[in-house]
Order: sequence, then structure tokens, then C-alpha cells
Amino acid sequence: MAVDEDVADQIVETVARWVDTEVIPNASRFELADEFPHEMVEQMKAFGLFGCVIPEEYGGLGLDHLTYARLIEEISRGFMSLGGVLNSHLIVSTMIVRFGTDAQREQWLPDLATGEKRACFSLSEHDAGSDTRSMRCRATPDGDDYIINGTKMWVTNGQRAAIVGLMAKTPDSATAGEGVTCFIVDKEPGATWSPSSGGTVTTSKIEKLGYRGLETVEMNWDNVRIPAAAMLGDESGMGRGLNAALSALELGRINIAARAVGVARAAFEAAMDYAQRRETFGKPIYDHQVIAFKLADMATKLEAARLMCHSAARKFDEGIRADMEAGMAKLFCSEVAAEIALESMRIHGGNGYTSEYPVERYYRDVPLMIIGEGTSEIQKLVIARQLRDKYRAE
Ligand SMILES: Cc1cc2nc3c(=O)[nH]c(=O)nc-3n(C[C@H](O)[C@H](O)[C@H](O)COP(=O)(O)OP(=O)(O)OC[C@H]3O[C@@H](n4cnc5c(N)ncnc54)[C@H](O)[C@@H]3O)c2cc1C
Repeated sequence: MAVDEDVADQIVETVARWVDTEVIPNASRFELADEFPHEMVEQMKAFGLFGCVIPEEYGGLGLDHLTYARLIEEISRGFMSLGGVLNSHLIVSTMIVRFGTDAQREQWLPDLATGEKRACFSLSEHDAGSDTRSMRCRATPDGDDYIINGTKMWVTNGQRAAIVGLMAKTPDSATAGEGVTCFIVDKEPGATWSPSSGGTVTTSKIEKLGYRGLETVEMNWDNVRIPAAAMLGDESGMGRGLNAALSALELGRINIAARAVGVARAAFEAAMDYAQRRETFGKPIYDHQVIAFKLADMATKLEAARLMCHSAARKFDEGIRADMEAGMAKLFCSEVAAEIALESMRIHGGNGYTSEYPVERYYRDVPLMIIGEGTSEIQKLVIARQLRDKYRAE
């Protein structure tokens, strides 16, 4: 998926200009009010960002994932929640690209590429976040259909989405046990949905510390009948849902790493600006060496984080397994973003603690990057497992 560098630069520059003029001046207003930024999302649609990594043959822009990471950095330095609007949508789109049948790609990708339909990704449950195999949501075969029952947790974009990438347990005839299967479910956007085929989906919004302006919901599936054709990959997808999810989560982790770089950059740039304007003891605080050294450390870590994120995106572009690189990037970038956001707040002194400055938003936003798409501890497990495979003692 190589993309002409000039084209990539142009798209990134166009989006960056829009972030400067439209997103940055308005982001805190939407985030503090926890209000969905409809106009910004419409503009992202107009840019084609909902289809940015979907192949051109399905109406997407067919960009490479390095360009995607650069776009997410730009968007997130303005308003991190916008990066989340795109994330679950493109995780589900990527699962369909990689694991769907030809007919399923034709069915879903064109509407996803335009953003006409938006997707949410539903893996986690109350007792199954890190430990995904403990999930309880079940899809029970019934004639040509499946009946879904269970409660999913933390479904970002869950109310506004028209397509759900749903992971549920199904009977596994090979082992006489159960496996996790991915279903792509067409639903109506809204707080509740009662399909004519039967059953009801109800959602309730979760109040959050940060990452506000877009909804994250608990989603209850009560006897919802869906066609067997909703199974990703048809019968070959039976019991292979976690493979699909973990593969697409590599992209999700690159998205989170890029979002972390975006927020870290915003926090760093805010601190640079403030440190040169704020005077104490007769000089700008930047001229107190301890503050300048903090900023030197922040800039160095930010640069390292960006390089790791880009390196993981390049690996993903090669089309080979990139879970270690994506995990390392997600781990490093999110932890660095948390450090930089806190340092930026310290540099802003009391002002950093008020909603007059966006720094408090960066501080509230960064924990999401540490927790979502697998916590830092889980990234270390993924990395350590890969390391032993790579450096196995004979
Ligand atoms: C705002 C938000 C949005 C989200 N959006 C989505 C979404 O759209 N779709 C979706 O499917 N999920 C989503 N998630 C869920 C997210 O992926 C999980 O919260 C995350 O994976 C952690 O799972 P958990 O909350 O169950 O924590 P737990 O798994 O209970 O972990 C609790 C603590 O124990 C640690 N821990 C757990 N197991 C181990 C272990 N084996 N070794 C060492 N430490 C361990 C964890 O690192 C953590 O510190 C979202 C979460 C949040 C907060």
C-alpha cells in the first residue's frame, strides 16, 4: 500500500490546517460539555478520513498506515476524541478487509469508506477486558440465524454506529467446546434498537474522566436474531474471532500510539509557549534552567515516541505480523504522553489546573491511551512473549 509521498504530505497538511483553524479553537468547548462534535465529524467525512486506509476499489483513499498515523497525530493534537471516532471504525473495516469474504467486502466497505455508516468495535465485557476469553456474550445457532445474548462493555461509538463488530462465543463443533466468533451486525444508530427479526439492543452511556464528546456505552443484547451471513468470513470465521480482533487491534494500537503522540505534542507545544511568556523572578520561566531542561526532556521523548509509532506503522504496512512493534509503540507512546501531559501541567502552574487552558484536558485524556486497546501491563505480556520466541535459549 505505498502512497505517493507528495500526496500523503498534501493530505496531512490539509488536515493539519483544518485542525489549527477549526478544531483547536473549539475542542475544549465540546469536550467539557461532553457534546458530540457533529460538524468536525462531517468534515472528517468530507476529507475521506473514514475510508483513509480502506482500499480504493471499495471507495476508500487506500492510504498507507504511516500516513494514517501522521493524520491521527494531527487530529489528536487538536482533539483526541476525534481520533477515537476513527479508531473503532477502521478496526472493524480492517477486519472486514482482512477476514471478510468478497461478498462481505462488497456489502460493507463502500458505506464504511464514505462514513455513511460508522462502525463500533465490541470485544470487552465487565469481566473480560484484558482476559477476553472470559467473555460471556453468546451467539446461539437457531436455524439459519444466530440469537445474541449478553452485555458488552466500553463500546466506543456504540450509539451512533450503524455497524457493530461484535465478538461472541459460539459452539465449536471441532472441540465440543466454545470459540469466539466475530459478527458484523447492521444496526440502527440510537440508544435502543429492536430489529424486525426479533430482540432488543439497549445502550447506556458511561460517564468518563476524559475522552469526552463521543460516547462509550454499555450495550445489552437481549435475544437479538441476526442472520448467519453476519459471521465474518462466513463459516471459515467460526471460532476465529479473536484472531481477527487481535490482528486488527495491531492497527488499533498504532492509532492509540499516534493519538498519544498527538496529545503529547499539544502538551509540549503549550508548555513551550507558556514557558516563554510566563515570568517569575524577573525573567521568563524558560530561562530557569530547570524548566528548559524539562522541555528538552519532553521534546526528546516526544521525538522518540513519534519514531516508534512510525516504525510500527511501517511494519504494519508490510502486511506481516506487527503485534510486538505495535505493542511497543502503544506502551511507550502512551506512557510518554502521560509524563509530558503532567510536566506540561506543572510548567503551567495553577493555570494548568484550570479549564481556561487545554492542558487539563490533555492530562485527563492520556490515561485512556494507557488503558484502551490493552493496558501497559498487557502490552508488556505481548512483547515478552514475542521476545522469548525471538531470542529462545537453545
Ligand atoms: C474509555 C474507554 C473506551 C474503551 N473502548 C472500547 C471499545 O470501543 N471496544 C472494546 O472492546 N473495548 C473498549 N475499552 C475496553 C478496554 O480495552 C479495557 O478497559 C482494557 O482492555 C482493560 O480491561 P479491563 O478494564 O477489564 O481491566 P482488567 O483486565 O480488569 O485489568 C485491571 C488491571 O489488572 C492488570 N492486569 C490484568 N491482567 C493482567 C495480567 N495477566 N498480568 C498483569 N497485569 C494484568 C491490568 O493491566 C490493569 O492494570 C475501552 C475502555 C475505556 C476505558
